[in-house]
Amino acid sequence: MRTWSKGSEEINKLDDEIKSLLPIVCTNCDYRDNFNRRIFSINLEPENKLDEIQVKEIMNRKLKVMHFGTFVGEKEQYLTAAKCPKCNSDDVFWDY
Ligand SMILES: [Zn+2]
Repeated sequence: MRTWSKGSEEINKLDDEIKSLLPIVCTNCDYRDNFNRRIFSINLEPENKLDEIQVKEIMNRKLKVMHFGTFVGEKEQYLTAAKCPKCNSDDVFWDY
């Protein structure tokens, strides 16, 4: 599993669709300004593919991300997460 943070050069190599998907509003406190965006990618090759439970486990336990979105690209599945700088919640609504 690879990880990108907002602003890194690699994020520019990602699918255009995922780049235009942005955190809009914190559903906990209604904050609507700049979020730190994190994008994770998972290889979709069958031999390396993680199932939904494994993905959730990694996100929740290892990365401490409770809420995340999923986006299936051509060769990879992306997971999107953002943390609210105001209240620290990761329950954020994303949109294009
Ligand atoms: Zn918030």
